[in-house]
Parts: sequence; C-alpha cells; structure tokens
Amino acid sequence: MNAIDMFCSVASSASAMDRFTSAETWERPDVQWGSHEMRTLTCCRTTDETHDVRTFVFCGEDGRPFSFEPGQFITVSAEVGGRTVSRCYTISSPPTRPYTLTITVKRTPGGVMSNWLHDNMKPGVTLNAYGPAGVFTPSSAPAVKALYLSAGSGVTPLMSMTRAAFELGLDRDIVFLHSARTPQDIIFRDELARMSVQAANLDVIQVCEGVGTETDWNGPTGRLSLELLEARVPDFREREVFTCGPAPYMSAVKEILARGGHDPARYHQESFNFAETVEPLVEPAVPAAENQAAAQSTYTVRLARSGKSFTMESDQTILAAARKAGVVLASSCSQGICGTCKTAVLEGSVDMQHNGGIRKREIDKGLRLMCCSRPTSDIVLDL
Ligand SMILES: Cc1cc2nc3c(=O)[nH]c(=O)nc-3n(C[C@H](O)[C@H](O)[C@H](O)COP(=O)(O)OP(=O)(O)OC[C@H]3O[C@@H](n4cnc5c(N)ncnc54)[C@H](O)[C@@H]3O)c2cc1C
Repeated sequence: MNAIDMFCSVASSASAMDRFTSAETWERPDVQWGSHEMRTLTCCRTTDETHDVRTFVFCGEDGRPFSFEPGQFITVSAEVGGRTVSRCYTISSPPTRPYTLTITVKRTPGGVMSNWLHDNMKPGVTLNAYGPAGVFTPSSAPAVKALYLSAGSGVTPLMSMTRAAFELGLDRDIVFLHSARTPQDIIFRDELARMSVQAANLDVIQVCEGVGTETDWNGPTGRLSLELLEARVPDFREREVFTCGPAPYMSAVKEILARGGHDPARYHQESFNFAETVEPLVEPAVPAAENQAAAQSTYTVRLARSGKSFTMESDQTILAAARKAGVVLASSCSQGICGTCKTAVLEGSVDMQHNGGIRKREIDKGLRLMCCSRPTSDIVLDL
C-alpha cells in the first residue's frame, strides 16, 4: 500500500481513531529509518516563524519518503567548531506529508547547534541526522479527547500531532492551549488559527504573558492558570493531557492539573532537556571489597563490521567503555531515551535498563541501547 492509499484508508475507516493512535499506522517498512541510522537530509526551504524561531524543511536522498509518528524527534549531527555536535529536534511536520520533514528551532543564546542551524542551514545545504525516536506520541496514550498544553518551542510535537489529526480529518477532539511571552512570539500562529476555523473539533487558545507591540491583542493575558482552564476548557478533567515546554512551565502545569483534580495517569510530558526527563541512570553500587571479584567481570566486546574489539568491566555501560577505548559510537542523550545508540547484539548478553528509548519489538529483534546496557558475557555487536 502506498502512502496515499494508506492515509486515505486511515481517514475513511470507521476505526480511524484507533489507527491514528496506533504506531503501526505510521510505520512504512519500505522506508524504515532507525534511530541509530544516519541519513543525509537536504534543506529545501526555511521559514521564519518568529524573530528567533525558524523552521527548516528537509528532503531525503533521492526523494525517499520518511516514516515517523507524530510527536517523535530526530537527532541531528554536525561538525561545529571542529567537533561533532548532536542535538534532538522534534519533527514539527506531520507524517501525512511523508516527502518532507521539518524541524522548528529556537535560537538558544550561546547555544552551539541552534545558532549553527540558523546561521548555516539554507536550501541546498545537507545535514546528517539519526532517525525518529521518542514515545511522546498519540499511540502512547490513545484518547478521543485531548488537551495539548505547550509553551515556547515546546509547541513542536503537539503541532505535528495537530497537523496529522487535522489533515486526516479525524474525529479527535483537541484543545490546543499554547503559552507565549507576547503575541509576536506565538509559533505557528497563522496556521493554527486557520486550522481551528476549518475544524470544529480543534479549539486553539493562546495565552500571552504580555502584549508586546500588539496592543490590540484580544486573547487572554498572563500565565496559564486553573481559572483559565476552568473558563476555557471546562471539561479538561476528561481529556488526555500532553504537555511540552520549559521545566518551570511543566511543573506549573502539573500543579494546576493536580489542584484541578485531573487524573495524573492521563498526563504525559516531553522535556527538551533529557536531564529533566528522568532520574539519571545510576551506575550500580560498587560492591563490597570481598564480593567485588565475584560481582565484577571483564568482558570482550567485538565489533563485527569494523573488526575492532576492546575489553570492559561489567559495571560500565558499553557506550562509556567504547568511548574510553577510543571507539566512536553514535549517541546523544546517554539516558536510554533518544535511541541514537541502538545497536544489534549479535552474540552474548547484556543487562539493559532503559528509559523508553527502545520498543519491545526492537528488543525482540536483538537491538539494545548501548548507553544503558552492561555486558553479562563477552559480546559481539553489529558495528
Ligand atoms: C526530545 C527533544 C526534542 C527537542 N525538540 C526541540 C525543538 O523542536 N525545537 C527546539 O528549538 N529545541 C528542541 N530541543 C532542544 C534542543 O535539542 C537543544 O537542546 C537546543 O536547541 C539548544 O541546543 P544548542 O546546541 O543551541 O545549545 P547548547 O550548546 O546545548 O547550550 C544550551 C545552553 O547552555 C549554555 N552552555 C553551553 N555550554 C556551556 C558551558 N560550557 N558553560 C555554561 N553554559 C553553557 C548555552 O549558553 C545555552 O544557554 C529538543 C530537545 C529534546 C531532548
């Protein structure tokens, strides 16, 4: 089934909602792009969204389409100032537009990658990226009624979800409440306004801390509050909530929802800072001296494709040991979230403690995340 057939069948099916919220709907086995696989993207267009936020539109090699779930991110990698820098960016476009992929990047003052992209990424320029990853997607929490809460550049995953639902005309009731500093800082303002006019089941609300130069702003001002939620989204307790934004914003959202009696089990969030997403993956406690010899072993790691090998202690992660041995493995978050270091273990066994960066079916296929796996025998990796 080609992309058009697939999406048409999704839209016309009686169970379209189920399929929208199913990861399989967005899978294209013919164009799989693993989160550990690097592809070269070519910038084909850029659009300024606000004074410091720009969207970059990319095409794949030979026009090959992309497959991903709305809400997922890619990990881009570039040589900046003589070193390889990798950063994650949410795909802001929907999978319903499979021939291009967009990221929407806010300039971070003093930031390496965001400023490099703004200053260098122009039509015709290429960029390396690892494939889609992340579980902040409609399939992670299927629901007919959703409340999307975002602030600043946290709008991007929710925009991809909204665009996908809108373009498929799905019977999905979405309230999209975005917080911005001023009306001039609202990302995707015109497109969201257009979509909400055209779709009765999409309600877009924007709240601005101040009006900036737009003195005739007639939307709500101030910060998101329980009073605003009660007034504008009175049925918010019935909605699956997806939140993305700076850490203080997400803490405030959690507190407001708790005070308002929203079920925390129906709350999902994405952080743009991995350190805030999870407790750091802890190194195992150092065993007492008498048990140390028994608890700790030295194993050999062989890389099947490159022919390299190194030895490592069983209490290290494979990624850390590889770095120490001078072997460069693709990686980004080091927290078992992003999936960039996903690698097939061809022989031997490992103990993996991940944070959602790998799916069960990938584990079943023998893939493991090197940043959070420790060997329990000699191993051979597909590298
Ligand atoms: C899953 C995920 C999705 C994301 N999606 C998006 C998205 O859609 N859009 C988006 O804009 N961003 C997104 N991000 C954030 C993005 O990955 C980057 O973190 C962001 O662009 C900043 O990267 P940078 O290289 O420009 O900044 P960095 O170089 O990482 O710097 C970040 C900050 O640290 C400071 N800093 C850097 N080095 C030092 C130092 N040595 N000492 C003191 N301070 C220092 C910088 O001044 C800056 O303020 C996402 C992140 C994640 C994890």
